[in-house]
Amino acid sequence: MHFSREFKPTNTIVKINNVKIGGKFFAIIAGPCVIESPEQYIETAKIVKEAGANIIRGSVFKPRTSPYSFQGLGREGLKLIKELGEDLKIATITEVMDPRDIKITANHVDIIQIGARNMQNYDLLKEASKSDVPILLKRGMSATIDEWLYSAEYLMVEGNENIILCERGIRTFSTTTRNTLDLSVIPLLKMRTHLPIIVDPSHATGNRDLIAPVSKAAIASNADGIMIEVHYNPDIAKCDGAQSLPPEMFIELIEQIKPILEIE
Ligand code: PEP
Ligand code: MN
Repeated sequence: MHFSREFKPTNTIVKINNVKIGGKFFAIIAGPCVIESPEQYIETAKIVKEAGANIIRGSVFKPRTSPYSFQGLGREGLKLIKELGEDLKIATITEVMDPRDIKITANHVDIIQIGARNMQNYDLLKEASKSDVPILLKRGMSATIDEWLYSAEYLMVEGNENIILCERGIRTFSTTTRNTLDLSVIPLLKMRTHLPIIVDPSHATGNRDLIAPVSKAAIASNADGIMIEVHYNPDIAKCDGAQSLPPEMFIELIEQIKPILEIE
């Protein structure tokens, strides 16, 4: 298997322009859950970049539980991402749900995200595998490690090695948090795969007060990065406001983890 340690004993380092993820390189991905407007996206991106994020998130194709919720700006929004990446000289990531959107998205963003709901959408995985753009593959809501790794294999069969795994919590009996973060997968996956693995404390907990401690736990477990939802005004967020950090909480978190990560 392409993902396995036996196939490749050294850690894969995914390179996106001047950003590296894996090995000793830690990624801080931050930004809004969904891009609502140019102002909300650009202002939030500037704040998180200034604080120390090296990749900007923001969705335009949004998997919403209710069909009546805001679904994202769609393909129109991709232009905003490309412009932002160029203007701020920063790497960008966005989710794709439809195989027909892979090509156009790969032309506008630096990393394609495949979300939890689509981890086993094999047509999407096959289409994504044809592109050489780096892919962040989130763990399915109730996916085992093997199912997750086999999905990574789908992405790698055509030769794309730039795959990042993302633990975002799984569905359990517990409703205390939005999902149940399975931190043990970090050391476990480090044994089984050379691919970098990051943690998404935002979707794992659903609660902004838990983001900082859980981010630190992710670092302690040797994760290669974190992905955090930040909104310049979470009270008016169209999606996931309760788990989105306001600017001051994000800045404080990054200041706290910088010495641990030994970054400036
Ligand atoms: C997201 O990161 O925007 C998202 C929808 O998360 P997940 O796929 O983990 O639910
Ligand atoms: Mn979200």
